[in-house]
Amino acid sequence: MIWKVPLADLDYDTNEDNAVLAVLHSKWLTMGAVTAQFEHDFSQLTGSPHCLSVSNATEALHLACVALGIGPGDEVIVPSLTFVATANAVLYTGASVVFADITSPNDLTISPQSIQANISPRTKAIIVMHYAGYPCDMPAILEIARQHNMHIIEDAAHCPGATLQGKALGTWGDIGCFSFFSNKNLATGEGGMLTTHSDEIAARLKLLRSHGMTTLTYDRHAGHAYTYDVVDLGYNYRIDEIRAALGIEQLKKLPANNQRRREIVAHYRAHLPAELTIPFDGHPGITAAHIAPILLPAGHNRTAFQDYMKEHGIQTSIHYPPIHTFSYYKERFPGPHHLPVTESVGAREVTLPLFPTMTEEQIDYLMEIVPLALKASKSS
Ligand SMILES: *Cc1c(COP(=O)(O)O)cnc(C)c1O
Repeated sequence: MIWKVPLADLDYDTNEDNAVLAVLHSKWLTMGAVTAQFEHDFSQLTGSPHCLSVSNATEALHLACVALGIGPGDEVIVPSLTFVATANAVLYTGASVVFADITSPNDLTISPQSIQANISPRTKAIIVMHYAGYPCDMPAILEIARQHNMHIIEDAAHCPGATLQGKALGTWGDIGCFSFFSNKNLATGEGGMLTTHSDEIAARLKLLRSHGMTTLTYDRHAGHAYTYDVVDLGYNYRIDEIRAALGIEQLKKLPANNQRRREIVAHYRAHLPAELTIPFDGHPGITAAHIAPILLPAGHNRTAFQDYMKEHGIQTSIHYPPIHTFSYYKERFPGPHHLPVTESVGAREVTLPLFPTMTEEQIDYLMEIVPLALKASKSS
C-alpha cells in the first residue's frame, strides 16, 4: 500500500550508502573496528562507559536478564503496555513476569505505586519501558528497587537521545537496552545496544554476546590471539559491520531528528481537536518523541477511526495491545490482573504518523483529516 502519510519513514541518504559501501570494500563484515566505533559514538551520546551492540533489542533484553542472574523461580515486574519482547525476554530465562499498570492516561509509563503493589519475595528485577521516548519516574523507581534489593533493566527501544534531569535514559538502571529496528529513531534494519555503568556486568554481557568465548574472530584476525576458552553458556547475538556503519551515520542525524520529532508533536498538541487526549502533556525530561500516541474520547469506535484514516491514505497503529491480553500470555498468566489504566488506554489508543522527514504538506493534511476521522468514528 502506498500511503500519503506512512506511520514512519527512514532518513537515509548517500551518507548511509557510502558507509555501507566502505564496509563492503573493506572485506571485513563481522563485528570489528566499525562496531567498536559505533559503540564509542553511542557512549558519547549516552555517557554510558560501556556500550555493546547486538543484533536487536530483544536479544539485548534477554542478555540483560541473563547477566543479572534472572532465572527459574524469579519474578520480574514489567509493564503490560509495551511491545511483547519486553516480557518474552524474561520468559526465555525460565523466570516469570508480573504485570504492573501504567500511571495515568497522561503518563503511559509504568506506575511506581503499581510496581510497589506487585512486589513479592521472588521479585528479582523491574523492566521499565520509556514509552514513546518519555521518561519513566526513575527517581521513584530507583528508590523502590534500592529498598527491595531489585535490579532495574530499561527497555530503551523508544528513547535514544532522551534524558531526564540531564541523564540519558537507558543509563539510570543496571542495564539499558536500545533498538535500531527500521522504524526506530536510529535505524539500522535490525540492531540493538546494551549500556551499563558496571565493569563487571559489561564483561559478562560481552562474553554472553559471543558464545561465552574469551576471544573474537576479529581478535584472531588482528593477530591478538590464536585460541580461546568458553567460560559461560553464551549466544551469538552479535551485530555486523554493515549495520554498525549505518548506526554511525544515523547517530550523527539523531539529535536534529529528535528535535524535529519534538517540534512535530508540539504542532499536533496545538492543532489537534481538544476532545483528543494527547498523553505526556507537561511530562518531565527531554523526550525522543519516538511515536505520537493519542487517546480517542469515550463513545468513539477505534476501528472506524483507523479505517477513515486509511481510506484517506494515512497509516495509523496501536501501541500497544496490552501483553496480558494476548492468547499465549492469557493461558500462561491468567491473572487476575489489576491493570485498569492499561486496559482503558489499550482500548482507545491510536498512534499517528511521526517521522523527522515529514513534509509540511503531510502534517497539514494529517491535521485536516484527524477531525473528520474523529467525527466519522463517533458511535451513534
Ligand atoms: C522495538 C521494540 C523492542 C524490540 O526491539 P527489536 O530490536 O525489534 O528486537 C522491544 N521493546 C520495545 C518497547 C520496542 O519498541
